[in-house]
Amino acid sequence: MSATDDLNAFKAATRILAWLNATGRLTLPIDLDLVRQMLPETPFGRGSVIKEPADLTWNASEGALVRNPDNECEWGIFVNPKARPERRRFTIAHELGHFILHRASQTRFQCDKESVYSGIESLKQIEREADDFAGNLLMPGDLLRNRIAGKRIDFHLIGELAREFGVSLESMSIRIMKYTEQRAMLVYWDHGFLKYQWPSSEARKSRVRLHKTGDPQEPLIGTLAADDSVEQEWDGVDMPARVWCASEAEDITLRELKHSYPGGNRVLSLLMLESAPPRQYARSGWEDEASRDTFDRFVDSGQFPVR
Ligand SMILES: [Zn+2]
Repeated sequence: MSATDDLNAFKAATRILAWLNATGRLTLPIDLDLVRQMLPETPFGRGSVIKEPADLTWNASEGALVRNPDNECEWGIFVNPKARPERRRFTIAHELGHFILHRASQTRFQCDKESVYSGIESLKQIEREADDFAGNLLMPGDLLRNRIAGKRIDFHLIGELAREFGVSLESMSIRIMKYTEQRAMLVYWDHGFLKYQWPSSEARKSRVRLHKTGDPQEPLIGTLAADDSVEQEWDGVDMPARVWCASEAEDITLRELKHSYPGGNRVLSLLMLESAPPRQYARSGWEDEASRDTFDRFVDSGQFPVR
């Protein structure tokens, strides 16, 4: 069996972190140049050379991975020179992901932050995988889990972690949604409209839903997100959870945090919800509707089977 059989983004990143760890070179922020130089010595890149990242000058993408047309062993990474340093790091990690996971099927990758939202399913899929690889490599789950255990999650903590791991506030916020054990939701607004919402697994299990009032969705009345006079609220403000999520119980509160990017057009809202009793058996671990059995459906609809 070869090292790349049955490979996915998570496994690839985990193996690289294990190699770094075994040689005493697992430090934060993850040294991407070391990874780039190490790959040709590993089963993930044997026989290849990855050139040092260069400025991307021929178009407006975030990054690219290109095989040298004159030398099929040689690959080049190109990065938007205008991007912030942490964004460049994410892009380089993303291109390394394409190199490991996708270079057998393509010789050229042109990548945008928006590609994961494109309409082309196959493109979305490989872009998602490369992002997933970058997230797992730059923000190792085990290290992150330790950093947030028992901590109050706010943008101060997320900002500290983003600096320590060398990633953007947005990347770290998304990653924390994966590892927090609290009910939480990350919401991203672009020019006043909802671009995406990212629930934590506990939020998903307890079926936290944003109250939908339109399409595209605008910030809800009474929230900090809708209040233009508040640019930053990194500690958070408590409010009834129902202001955001109509289906939450009346006595449940949430803490809303807000981060506005320079220019004010892009806003991150972080919602930390008070824990709530499971909705019927919503916390029992099932992932989707299809996995429920008849008993679950009875209970869900408020009925109990007669025994
Ligand atoms: Zn890409």
